[in-house]
Amino acid sequence: MKALRLLIAVEQARDKEEQRQHERQFGVSLGMDAEPEDSIDEPRGTSDEPDPGSFTHRFVLDVRAHPPLPRPTVHYTEDSALFALRREILSQRTFSIVKPDAVRKGHTGAILAQIEKAGFKIVSIKRMSISKAQAEGFYYVHAARPFFRELTEFMSSGPIFPMVLEKDNAIADLRKLMGATNPAQAEEGTIRKKFAASIGENAIHGSDAEETAAFEIGYFFAGIELK
Ligand code: ATP
Ligand code: MG
Repeated sequence: MKALRLLIAVEQARDKEEQRQHERQFGVSLGMDAEPEDSIDEPRGTSDEPDPGSFTHRFVLDVRAHPPLPRPTVHYTEDSALFALRREILSQRTFSIVKPDAVRKGHTGAILAQIEKAGFKIVSIKRMSISKAQAEGFYYVHAARPFFRELTEFMSSGPIFPMVLEKDNAIADLRKLMGATNPAQAEEGTIRKKFAASIGENAIHGSDAEETAAFEIGYFFAGIELK
């Protein structure tokens, strides 16, 4: 929906520019003013009116008594609308954690620098410790695996830095930057190759798909922290 609104904004910005050029050239307006803001349909008709006293009726009365605040009008130029459109369509968010081993060894700064250098924007980050139960909730997909206990004890063994990262193709690109789960098999120059000691203590976590990224972001961050 937002992409559609932005496309419309690009068109409107182009129309406005055309209108301005026409006025400059001929001194006459093309008369392409935007529709008045208040042309949006008002709730109307009595046939849809809910039964008096019903929950819906009380809700409708409440909404009418407290109408939503008017939304500010955003005026896009063609360039700014195209920029926002590109960002809306291309950018993706992923979730990552600097794990307790890397924090303990003082590698947080170097890992964040490598992430930023690779073009990721750090949308949100915090330092915290989690309980074993919270680690179990986070890694619930691995509950049946033999390393589950070791993994969740390790993840709750000290401070971590959970974070939300953004760039185009963020999920796949971060996995590439992290390297293989087992640092012995990780490619040269990857974060795990440089900073991880073993498959269990491997410095960094990264979401592996869109659905897991959405779950993991929501597990650690509230919407208000993600503007
Ligand atoms: P992560 O989810 O932390 O980004 P990953 O996606 O590369 O890592 P997963 O298969 O999801 O790997 O495993 C989750 C974590 O469990 C690994 O990062 C690792 O710390 C631990 N783990 C995986 N396999 C083993 C194993 N064989 N022995 C010990 N720990 C393991
Ligand atoms: Mg994983």
